[in-house]
Amino acid sequence: MNNRRPIIIANWKLNGGIDLLCSSVVSFIRKHYEAEIVVCPPYIYIRDMLNFLQHSEIRIGSQNVSKFESGAFTGETSAQMLKEAGCKYCLIGHSERRSMFRENNASCQIKVQRALDTCLTPVLCIGENNEERENQITRDVLTRQLTEGLEGLDLKDKEICIAYEPIWAIGTGKAASPEIAQEVHHFIRHELVALYGEDTANKIRLLYGGSVNKTNAADLLVQPDIDGLLVGGASLDPEHFEAICQQA
Ligand code: PGA
Repeated sequence: MNNRRPIIIANWKLNGGIDLLCSSVVSFIRKHYEAEIVVCPPYIYIRDMLNFLQHSEIRIGSQNVSKFESGAFTGETSAQMLKEAGCKYCLIGHSERRSMFRENNASCQIKVQRALDTCLTPVLCIGENNEERENQITRDVLTRQLTEGLEGLDLKDKEICIAYEPIWAIGTGKAASPEIAQEVHHFIRHELVALYGEDTANKIRLLYGGSVNKTNAADLLVQPDIDGLLVGGASLDPEHFEAICQQA
């Protein structure tokens, strides 16, 4: 047994508008779940969602954060601004950001530091692509993403989550099997123990993401090293997302 509270995060990506997003959660806005439920809307809707969810236990996260604190960085949003806007979490290094917006382990490391400095809980996303998986270098890729993405960071008494999202599973309908996901999560936990010691590593929540739906959620969540789920497509469907939340 561990004390890690399960967590289900909805990654709404570039989807809207506000009516669609509100309708994804309206049916269970007042319910209480064992798991912590978090939704990550596009920046522009964070305030609206916060108002909409004000009597709810559902928390808000951002999908990204700037590595800069302030100044001449057009289009950027800082950790401090996200905190002020009411975010509790922020996704960092999602594979779509890594592949389309040139984010890398070094930029993720700065973003994680910014989030921690501001008391936002970073959710660092890591995962291998199909080629890396076929070449059996998944573990090397993950070790690198972890050691470089967290380099020099003191995580003692800090809240942070790691999301394992194999790129081949994102949006493909081909989720990792619970056994494969558990094996990788166990490896990630092992790497975190090596980096930070048992006490800190055992407090870090590890999430699985990639084609999670209401049918596979329960089998993933019972795995000992899977503490939560990062849900993309299925989180926009209220019936689906509620069913996933209920299983945690
Ligand atoms: P998916 O996306 O659930 O649609 O596969 C997950 C993610 O990208 O976080």
